[in-house]
Amino acid sequence: MTKSIFEYKDEQDWYLASFGSYNQLTCFGGDEAYEQFVDFFQALTNVLAVSGFQLHIAKHSSDLRLVSFILDCLKEETGRDLAVTQHQGVLLVSEGEKLVYVHVPKEGVAMEDFFGSKSQSTFGDVLLIATRNEGKTKEFRKLFGKLGITVENLNDYPDLPEVAETGTTFEENARLKAETISELTGKMVLSDDSGLKVDILGGLPGVWSARFAGPDATDSENNAKLLHELAMVLDDDKRSAQFHTTLVVAAPGRDSLVVEADWEGYIGREPKGDNGFGYDPLFLVGETGKTAAELSSEEKNEQSHRGQAVKKLMEVFPAWQNNQ
Ligand code: IMP
Repeated sequence: MTKSIFEYKDEQDWYLASFGSYNQLTCFGGDEAYEQFVDFFQALTNVLAVSGFQLHIAKHSSDLRLVSFILDCLKEETGRDLAVTQHQGVLLVSEGEKLVYVHVPKEGVAMEDFFGSKSQSTFGDVLLIATRNEGKTKEFRKLFGKLGITVENLNDYPDLPEVAETGTTFEENARLKAETISELTGKMVLSDDSGLKVDILGGLPGVWSARFAGPDATDSENNAKLLHELAMVLDDDKRSAQFHTTLVVAAPGRDSLVVEADWEGYIGREPKGDNGFGYDPLFLVGETGKTAAELSSEEKNEQSHRGQAVKKLMEVFPAWQNNQ
């Protein structure tokens, strides 16, 4: 049986891991780099009672990214319900509903910043998600609840007008929604805009993903139109595409926070799988040969454009919330 090897790699961070017979940490960069991580690695594996976890750190810039990677490996290998959130630069690791480990940055964190002070404004204690979808709201509530933030959605504001998505980019549309609703309500507002970009179609359907086959198109009409557009593209490599998500958080008198993420794949030749929605049955994930509609919702969330964008948001949101 071949052992699983886990990897996370981007411009700034590169981690590899596998499971063996004892815990082991190695890193590029000699003793100095090693010493920076060893206490933390031992403490985390100790408190989580992990044995046999072997981690190699090739490049490191973000403690949150590193802890997320470690927990993702453990979740996949053991099915444990582990999560990490960041508050004022402090990493809080939880298992199920329980806080199990706290990692404080080397330079420490002011008590007042961490616990808040009476004089501090309560601005940012409520986040309004620009959606009427309760499923989406529930996901965000779970994440922001850990930061002590109450999450509402547009169903709590029935009188708000619909904001038309008239932009030509994902960011324009996400900004339009978040910034308009924030101005109207005076609240901190999060909005998202997602879609499919097909390279050979110059990025189409893009911001028109929901209405590619017409204003009230169904998912299967949109999928049929996409297959039609690509009918003459016979070379698999030329059918490359990405799902994209842009998230925007807006608040009165502040510059909005914008994060985005892509999920790479290819457009198949026929719909496959029953899960998910939209273009999932046509979207072949990376080189796996499986469509997004053949993944469970947990598998999809782990790697999808939306899942990646939310992870990025949780990294930068606390600093944005406190630093302006
Ligand atoms: P929204 O911005 O999340 O409402 O997405 C707009 C449209 O993009 C959807 O109606 C789908 O057609 C497509 N889309 C966005 N995300 C996904 C996804 O995860 N799977 C499949 N289609 C998606």
